[in-house]
Amino acid sequence: MSTFQAPKGTYDLLPPRSATFLAVREAISAPLRNSGYGYVETPGFENVELFSRGVGESTDIVSKEMYTLTTKGGDQLALRPEGTASVLRAALQGNLHKLGGLPVKLWYSGSYYRYERAQAGRYRHFSQVGAEAIGAEDPALDAELIILADQAYRSLGLRNFRILLNSLGDKECRPVYREALQAFLRGLDLDEDTVRRAEINPLRVLDDKRESVQKQLVGAPMLRDYLCDACKTYHEEVRALVTAAGVVFEDDEKLVRGLDYYTRTTFEFVHDGLGSQSAVGGGGRYDGLSEMIGGPALPSVGWALGVDRTVLALEAEGVALDIPAATSVFAVALGAAKPVLFGLVTELRRAGVAADISYGGKGLKGAMKDANRSGARFALVAGDRDLEEGVVQLKDMQSGEQTPVALADVVDAVRAKLA
Ligand code: ATP
Ligand code: MG
Repeated sequence: MSTFQAPKGTYDLLPPRSATFLAVREAISAPLRNSGYGYVETPGFENVELFSRGVGESTDIVSKEMYTLTTKGGDQLALRPEGTASVLRAALQGNLHKLGGLPVKLWYSGSYYRYERAQAGRYRHFSQVGAEAIGAEDPALDAELIILADQAYRSLGLRNFRILLNSLGDKECRPVYREALQAFLRGLDLDEDTVRRAEINPLRVLDDKRESVQKQLVGAPMLRDYLCDACKTYHEEVRALVTAAGVVFEDDEKLVRGLDYYTRTTFEFVHDGLGSQSAVGGGGRYDGLSEMIGGPALPSVGWALGVDRTVLALEAEGVALDIPAATSVFAVALGAAKPVLFGLVTELRRAGVAADISYGGKGLKGAMKDANRSGARFALVAGDRDLEEGVVQLKDMQSGEQTPVALADVVDAVRAKLA
């Protein structure tokens, strides 16, 4: 194995593509920042029980995908596989829910780790931007989050995504459904693993992607027919509010999602250009999670959007984000002009102009190549003779036109040209 090889299932973000990742994180978080969500940052690892209790022992995330480690002090930790449990833990620990004014609305952006079968769109280290609205049961909140995710994707220029929506019921109606489904699943011809899953978390069997399983699920009892009146009314209100906002969605009765903590509203954003790793984001209501991790009752809703897959979706749709060149002005210094131009570049930077300079003592040709590569609109070129005259040459990199500018006027002249 080469020393220069990143671990399996991981990749580096390098320029220029890395700029797209920053822009995507920015675009996804902008609607949240504009809607009362405050920024939260939690550690990259947590005590392992947070996830085993919160996300659920029977989920793939906890049973197969979690990176766990024992510290030298004997603590059992896990690299975070998802954001919701950590954010809720942080809100509880920081007593944000007691400061008055529920819901507590938070957004986050960061790295997540899952030991998965690495393939296109499925990595062992990936990045999400997420939002959580903690401590309120209100269909408008579920609708708000769906609408904001739609706004985020649209602001990026994505078009070929679909929103799948379902209700998973609550602690009144889901247990009744669960039993009915279990009775049905017991009559099927399933492998050992799936039989076990049917006993621990039967809803997740509905999510099984295998044809052999899906075939047998025809005629399975559907949750829709078991929803209690409160859940039905709640779901209708969410649907009505999302529809009124002009956001189109599809009802998907089979959408269960892989986490144990979801109740009522559950949704997923899928993109049709991504092959089998089609989910670009997902979320839902998790009214019981706070109690599961030892907190008070705090009905909540949230989502997480995958940054990696969003970038792949943009590439699949051929959407190029409008990312301005990193450098506006590039200085090319010859001979004794280097310290003078270096000083000008510093001044430009302090004045807010993106500026860079050629390093390494290159000649005119090499330094001009650097200027071209930087994508700068203008070059500042100066040699000994320019300095004697007290000027630098301001070169328009598009037209090639070059004008001498007095040293004292450079910053103003550049700013005027860029304005
Ligand atoms: P999938 O069904 O594809 O495994 P998931 O249900 O496990 O997705 P969530 O836990 O809901 O995914 O995470 C939200 C989003 O994070 C996903 O929609 C996806 O865009 C992204 N995501 C999840 N796991 C990965 C991964 N291993 N690599 C890249 N992105 C991921
Ligand atoms: Mg998964």
